[in-house]
Amino acid sequence: MTEFSDLGLAPKVLRAVSDAGYTTPTPIQEGAIPPALEGRDVLGIAQTGTGKTAGFVLPMVTMLARGRARARMPRSLVLCPTRELAAQVAENFDTYSQHVKLTKALLIGGVSFKEQDILIDKGVDVLIATPGRLLDHFERGKLLLTGVQIMVVDEADRMLDMGFIPDIERIFSLTPFTRQTLFFSATMAPEIERITNTFLSNPARIEVARQATASETIEQAVVMFRASRRDRLAKEKREVLRAVIEAEGDACTNAIIFCNRKVDVDIVAKSLKKHGFNAEAIHGDLDQSQRTRTLEAFRENRLRLLVASDVAARGLDIPSVSHVFNYDVPSHSEDYVHRIGRTGRAGREGKAVMICAPADEKNLDAIEKLIGKDIPRAENPVKAAAPATAPHPSAEEPQKPARSRGSRRRSADAKPDRDRGREPRRDDRREDAVIGMGDHMPNFLAMSFAERRAS
Ligand code: AMP
Repeated sequence: MTEFSDLGLAPKVLRAVSDAGYTTPTPIQEGAIPPALEGRDVLGIAQTGTGKTAGFVLPMVTMLARGRARARMPRSLVLCPTRELAAQVAENFDTYSQHVKLTKALLIGGVSFKEQDILIDKGVDVLIATPGRLLDHFERGKLLLTGVQIMVVDEADRMLDMGFIPDIERIFSLTPFTRQTLFFSATMAPEIERITNTFLSNPARIEVARQATASETIEQAVVMFRASRRDRLAKEKREVLRAVIEAEGDACTNAIIFCNRKVDVDIVAKSLKKHGFNAEAIHGDLDQSQRTRTLEAFRENRLRLLVASDVAARGLDIPSVSHVFNYDVPSHSEDYVHRIGRTGRAGREGKAVMICAPADEKNLDAIEKLIGKDIPRAENPVKAAAPATAPHPSAEEPQKPARSRGSRRRSADAKPDRDRGREPRRDDRREDAVIGMGDHMPNFLAMSFAERRAS
């Protein structure tokens, strides 16, 4: 078995690795560190959770320990797609360079320009940045990239998703062509392939197994859910989510809940809080200090449920999550693999439960195709929701309006419990019809005020 000491790392770096408690290198570390130390370009095809960050930070610290930084000319550059990932990379540098003297600056949104300017003016060994913020600094004339000897692009596939590729190309062209490039991506989309062919020179290519095939420790389930009425979909789906979480009981020590859209991240988090769950939202529109606070609370187990979007969650290093709940079926099947990879890490057991509405069945098929197996169906824990096989009322069909605060109360015996969620009978509809609207009342009018507010 390969040991860290076989990889050619500096003794001071090895000491920091051993202080961190790591005994054996992960496959990406074993593959990437030796060629990186030889000065070769590296193309690492690996995702979060494989130890890829240490795969580039450890050789960088070893190489940068020799030599000194010059004013305004960083010696190395690490580009990350999100602020959180950049902050995590910075933490990794702190951990592994504790016995070596290295200076670093972090250029991310939400951190003041002034402080970082002062650091850069003095000269830094490592500059960690998101592409947009880096170019802002460059354009203000505060930064020269001609001294960059090592450039890292982390999570290139996410950069592509976020539209950063033109920025990356520009940054590449601002650095000397003699630089060493360490390039990491979970997948090799054609656009990524093109970039690596253009900017990497004869790279050592290291590919590590995808988590979907590797992680047998994750128990997966999908709850097929159909709303009793179209205008109640969001509300009832949140109800299903709460029931799914509750059904896991104490086994669910902490969880990430994924939503496809930022707006739902907020609504779901608010709703969970309102129902007494310990939950917070994290997405790109929240300010940096808030995101940092939320993440810290989650890492320190003060926060149980983190409601997140894919972009915000990508690259977050959260060591042990007992559960992942997919409030939505992701529309890119690869995101499913990333999402569930947040649990069952490093051989730990984990569980991933997804809610699937009829409109999402196509995406569910695509996911099952990608992972090469069917996800077991779990029973919908909400008894009140209509059975998944019930026909859905069409938009044209007149629907029973929900009763609003001021509306006429129906007699108590008119709707026994077992009938809840059944299709409204034609005479029911007539009974609740709003005078003056005929049968064709727009859906939003049928919702109560409380339903319209995210509950
Ligand atoms: P990453 O893929 O870089 O996000 O790393 C995932 C997690 O693995 C982080 O919590 C690291 O601290 C941890 N890690 C990195 N290298 C090792 C190693 N050689 N052995 C055990 N854990 C590691």
